[in-house]
Amino acid sequence: MSAAAAPSSPAACSPPPPDAGWRERLSARLLGPPGRQRVRVAQTLLSFGVIAAYVPIQGAAVLLGLMPVADMLLFNAYNLSWAFAFYLLIRSGWNLRLSRDPALTVPQCVFALVGSAWAYGICGPTRGAMLVAMMLVLVFSFFGLRVGQARWLALLGFGLLAGVMAYKVSTDPLAYEPRVEMIHLTLAGLFLFAVAVLAGRLTRMRQRLTEQRTALQEALTRIQELATRDPLTGLLNRRAMGELLAQEAARAQRLGTPFSVVLFDLDHFKQVNDRLGHAAGDEVLRSFAQVAMGRVRKTDALARWGGEEFLLLLPDTVPACALTVVARVREGLVALPSHIGLPGGVRFSAGVAACVAPEDVQPALERADEALYQAKAAGRDRCLVAA
Ligand code: GH3
Ligand code: MG
Ligand code: MG
Repeated sequence: MSAAAAPSSPAACSPPPPDAGWRERLSARLLGPPGRQRVRVAQTLLSFGVIAAYVPIQGAAVLLGLMPVADMLLFNAYNLSWAFAFYLLIRSGWNLRLSRDPALTVPQCVFALVGSAWAYGICGPTRGAMLVAMMLVLVFSFFGLRVGQARWLALLGFGLLAGVMAYKVSTDPLAYEPRVEMIHLTLAGLFLFAVAVLAGRLTRMRQRLTEQRTALQEALTRIQELATRDPLTGLLNRRAMGELLAQEAARAQRLGTPFSVVLFDLDHFKQVNDRLGHAAGDEVLRSFAQVAMGRVRKTDALARWGGEEFLLLLPDTVPACALTVVARVREGLVALPSHIGLPGGVRFSAGVAACVAPEDVQPALERADEALYQAKAAGRDRCLVAA
């Protein structure tokens, strides 16, 4: 009747594959695509199945002379219609308009409780089983209700049962003996109370699980961050860049497009540390990262490759275009001296290399390093393209 929280699936919008077996096709037709909504549909279909299975049992009760056929027909028409209507509402996705109770748990439980109380009034000698049915309704509701809602529904079930009992005792006291009804009502009250308490405990367990899942997710995000980011600059670290380079090399091989790598090395950085202190050196590294990040495209990736070395990956880019990016970074650094107290400004040397399929990325990195070395040897503060 209600749906348990289930993880959304990325495949939520995908139809069953064309080569799926008949079972997959049938369940896709009945339940819809995988995901949270499918769990709701399955739950509704399960309650419809239980209600449908009850029809022949009541038919047998009619044949055995335990209940009138008209009562049985009317009751089952009611039960099957509401259960099927809820299946349609959820299968069609109409329920998604409701943000508070998209599984329609509360209305389904109300209909089912009314059905159970009604059945109690028409089942005659077999009515005791309806107390079990009422408990079953509340057990279904465990999956999606808050504590208060479960208690409210248990109270409603008790009230409905008490009303039906009072009516039957006054109109049919031979079949519904007051003494028996008193015992039934007391037992029902006891069971419903216990079920409501259990529902509360289960809800609290669910809440704890949700909190733990959120905390775990946050910890996972943090671990991912620590594993892939450089803590000082916030840029990708060497390991993450290594993976990106491998991905880009594979993509470039497949598409036949070249990409460029630029290796930056800050000039005379040791002197920054020596003259202004390590903290100022850190600030220069952070500033370089910030300036460079602000001057590359979103599709480019910048990493802290080593102490004061940075690696820029430029997908679909030839070295001539990479040079213009490097020039933009250089321009951006011009504004820095007054900010960080470096009289000569932050300068860097850089080496650019292109990686063209089928070449692997490693030789391209080595050529960029060689070009950087030559830039240093040629007097620093420049960028050279590898031959
Ligand atoms: P060159 O122009 O030849 O590149 O000279 P350089 O001084 O930049 O090169 P060198 O390799 O001699 O010095 C690099 C310095 O970078 C030394 C090291 O202390 C400093 N460094 C490395 N990592 C960090 C860091 O995280 N913070 C700070 N403040 N300094 C760092
Ligand atoms: Mg260096
Ligand atoms: Mg250096």
